[in-house]
Amino acid sequence: MLRGKIAIITGAAKGIGRDIAIKLAKEGADVVINYRTCNDRLKELENTIKEIGREVLMVQADVSNFDETKVLVEKCIEKFGKIDILVNNAGITRDNLIMRMTEDDFDDVYKTNLKGAFNLIKHAIPYMIKQKNGRIINISSVIGLIGNAGQANYAAAKAGLIGLTKSVAKEVASRNITVNAVAPGYIKTDMTDKLPEKIKEKMMEYIPLKRFGETEDVANLVAFLASENAAYITGQVINVDGGMVI
Ligand code: NAD
Repeated sequence: MLRGKIAIITGAAKGIGRDIAIKLAKEGADVVINYRTCNDRLKELENTIKEIGREVLMVQADVSNFDETKVLVEKCIEKFGKIDILVNNAGITRDNLIMRMTEDDFDDVYKTNLKGAFNLIKHAIPYMIKQKNGRIINISSVIGLIGNAGQANYAAAKAGLIGLTKSVAKEVASRNITVNAVAPGYIKTDMTDKLPEKIKEKMMEYIPLKRFGETEDVANLVAFLASENAAYITGQVINVDGGMVI
């Protein structure tokens, strides 16, 4: 389905990003894995992609840094000569009630979750425009749609990502580039692991499908949006949340 395609996935060292990289590789894409900090599982991920039979380039970069993201895209072009799919997945939380939220809590979350996506889009879009083809998929969150007490910074950044998605979708549609957002609900990763048990139980009450999401649930949708089958879908926000937000 994605044979011959080149994909960059940000924040792909673990969690949802890792499984997106594996899924896209299984569908035939060669992948650029962006990571911020080294961990033991990076080599394992690199080997997994190679075992699937795809090429892989590992690039360290902080997505919030404009210059580092420029180098990330340039390294992709240097190795593969193009970029077909950009998945803006890197994200962080710094939860606190607004009364206790610091300026750094707000800035860090905004810079990674929203400006990070802007940085990558800014550097990748000239190549996509030139080749008159591209897929941009931004990983937002249902929290960007409905808000959440204790996550004003995260909700604002994820809502901003939806605005960015819709605006860029309108700008580049004539160049055959689609831009969509995926809004996961509760997906089992390190990000949600750290939540108190009581909050987890409370969240389950709001999930009609009565299970927390798996990283594969998100990766499957990303692979579809990256494919030719999704050629007529742009500017959309698609929830992967077990019905949490209906
Ligand atoms: P995670 O913490 O397991 O993984 C996040 C990844 O992003 C990590 O590899 C981390 O190193 C990387 N990252 C963070 N800051 C970075 C930076 N500045 N530059 C480069 N990489 C950076 O979290 P996850 O649950 O896999 O989340 C992935 C995405 O999905 C995030 O955007 C998150 O907001 C979103 N999301 C997750 C859930 C969920 O329930 N897990 C729900 C909705 C949205």
